[in-house]
Amino acid sequence: MHINDAVFLEDLCPKFRLRQWRKSIHRFTGKSCIYCGKPSESIDHVLPRSQGGLSTTENCVPACLSCNGDKSDENALYWYRKQKFYDPRRAMAIRAWLEGDLRLAIRLLQWANPNFRVINQNLEKDQSKYKAA
Ligand SMILES: [Zn+2]
Repeated sequence: MHINDAVFLEDLCPKFRLRQWRKSIHRFTGKSCIYCGKPSESIDHVLPRSQGGLSTTENCVPACLSCNGDKSDENALYWYRKQKFYDPRRAMAIRAWLEGDLRLAIRLLQWANPNFRVINQNLEKDQSKYKAA
């Protein structure tokens, strides 16, 4: 698909844009939960929407349903510290993610999980694209 067509399609169809965005979030972590490393099945708002959290890449992390449901409206880092799968490298990754440093977040996640594989050749493109959004 030509890049201009993509922009046109997204402008025309917000749902398509949302789907692309959700996909890119999961792609950053190789479709694994940022908290526990299991397959990510959902997107977790780190700062809950009920507390004014926005649906931006910085505030949305890939999470499995178990973590997403268990965390609920608690502060993500505070909740994460209490989990038995707590890993300080993941905690740092979450913090980097919230600061918008996805590159550092991904590197920390790779460190936490040597089997971690990410398809992020489009990272640069995605980041600029979603920052502008
Ligand atoms: Zn999880």
